[in-house]
Amino acid sequence: MSNPPASPPRWSLADLYASVTDPALDLDLDTSLRLASELAGAFRDRVASLDGPALAAMLRQYESVLAGLYRPQMFASLTLSTDAADEPTRALSSKVGERANGAFNQLRFVDLELGRAPAEVHARWLADPALEAFRHHLARARDAAPFALPGPVEEALSTKDLTGRRAWTQLYDELVAGWRFSVEGRGEPGALTLADVRSLREDPDREVRLRATEAIQKQLAESAPTLGFIINTLYQDHRLENGLRGHLDPVAPTMLDDELSRPVLDALMTAVEAHYPVAQRYFRWKAANLGLPVLESHDVLAPQPDGDREASWETARDEVLRAFGDLDPSVAELAGRFFTEGRIDAEPRQGKRDGAFCAGMIPGVAPRVLVNHHGRMRDVFTLAHELGHGVHFALAGQQQSLLNYWPTSPMAETASVFGELVLGRNLLAHETDPAARKAMLAARVEDALGTIHRQVSFTRYELRTHEARAKGVVPVEDIAAIWTGEMDRLYGDSVRRTERDRFGWAAIPHLVHYRFYCYSYAFGQLLVFALYDLWEREGAAFVPKYLRLLASGGRDRPEALLAELGLDVRDPAFWSRGLAVVTRMVDDLTAGG
Ligand SMILES: [Zn+2]
Repeated sequence: MSNPPASPPRWSLADLYASVTDPALDLDLDTSLRLASELAGAFRDRVASLDGPALAAMLRQYESVLAGLYRPQMFASLTLSTDAADEPTRALSSKVGERANGAFNQLRFVDLELGRAPAEVHARWLADPALEAFRHHLARARDAAPFALPGPVEEALSTKDLTGRRAWTQLYDELVAGWRFSVEGRGEPGALTLADVRSLREDPDREVRLRATEAIQKQLAESAPTLGFIINTLYQDHRLENGLRGHLDPVAPTMLDDELSRPVLDALMTAVEAHYPVAQRYFRWKAANLGLPVLESHDVLAPQPDGDREASWETARDEVLRAFGDLDPSVAELAGRFFTEGRIDAEPRQGKRDGAFCAGMIPGVAPRVLVNHHGRMRDVFTLAHELGHGVHFALAGQQQSLLNYWPTSPMAETASVFGELVLGRNLLAHETDPAARKAMLAARVEDALGTIHRQVSFTRYELRTHEARAKGVVPVEDIAAIWTGEMDRLYGDSVRRTERDRFGWAAIPHLVHYRFYCYSYAFGQLLVFALYDLWEREGAAFVPKYLRLLASGGRDRPEALLAELGLDVRDPAFWSRGLAVVTRMVDDLTAGG
């Protein structure tokens, strides 16, 4: 690599469009809109009558129209992410959004008609070699079809959602956004938001953590009746809609979207719940490490002594590429191109959005990474995460066409989390200071417990609350009792909790915004741990299998793609294998004293 940049760079989007006023962008939109309406004109109401080769040709056309629409969208959203206040950028983004939406509406017939085609037509399509590349897309459409309602009913439901489900969710968001807190010694009294006061639960000062925790508990106790009503309404809405669609199980729609099945979810949850004692062992160690007899609720998120260190941009780049190179030189090569081709925006600045993402919308258009490098070690992990996504997109883009390109959602975090693990392993291997090693290992364990064990406990709570709701309105104290029961199982006696902890459920937006989303964090993380375990066991032999998995993008269901690696996600032993990695980390930590 030549002349490394000394400071976090900005990206170049010149391969997409020259600027927000580039006339090529309008031309592309015009062309795509025309092609979308030609496609609709030629094929609407005719899809089920197409034979294999004709359908394959239509789907290829469909992919190319979609790609033509995504390209201006990608440019608009990337530009907006670094300059949200710029008027011309905002105008471009809404113009692109509106025009593309019109085209997407015209194209909606494709998946609808694929789904509604009679079973014998599907059977013929699935057997036709001409449709080989689209088999997964066809199967998805067919699997979803039995749960779709007639067109006018779908339209009525989604219209009523605006004043129903969506309005309740928005009410929740507005209530929570309106909360203000005071924590003595931190900020203006009465000026802290929930996000501010939450981050104070990670304060090194125990008194501050206690006051922050108490401030949240007090607010939740006051708001619990209203928030409990919102949750009761949303869960009943979910139940009624499931009834209309013919879903018998509250998690069924999630399983359908994520292309998994309930036995997979059960295997995952059972394995994790059996592993709760390891989490408890860690919390006991943490108490001792902080010099406390036992952790209390306000200590769970206490930072490790000697935690987050500094890291320059060059260190970040070099550490990530070195770690990726340990996995395979080709992985470091793919990640390295983000730096040499100007595809990373890492400089924090006014107008740029927070956080981080990797955008890889279309195969054939080089993905981009946005991070905000503030010079801390945790920024290096974020970079590894997003470049992991970048490598995933790059590999899938080499082999898959658009409809098979995006990994299905439970697989979407595979390469990103693997990237973080590889980085963590590498840093640990090169760290000689025992205190720093301990802090690093503890941080990795806490990450794992937060994404695996805690999210499974949320999911179990959510399942039990839905079961209770099926029998009638669930009083707030009953919701609290379900929550407390699950927290008792998770923490045992390793964390001393009180009555005041019983409304914790009310502050978790994922349990309001989505149904059964939390499990997917655990799924992704444990899947990666299981893959990591394979890598440690098999070494170089594992790498080509792993790269093939990434290159598969979304060409098949997660179960099928993983079966190609000899992994069975229905088997609790598969999940235990990932959990054993966590156990080993906790063993390491507790053995070190
Ligand atoms: Zn991610």
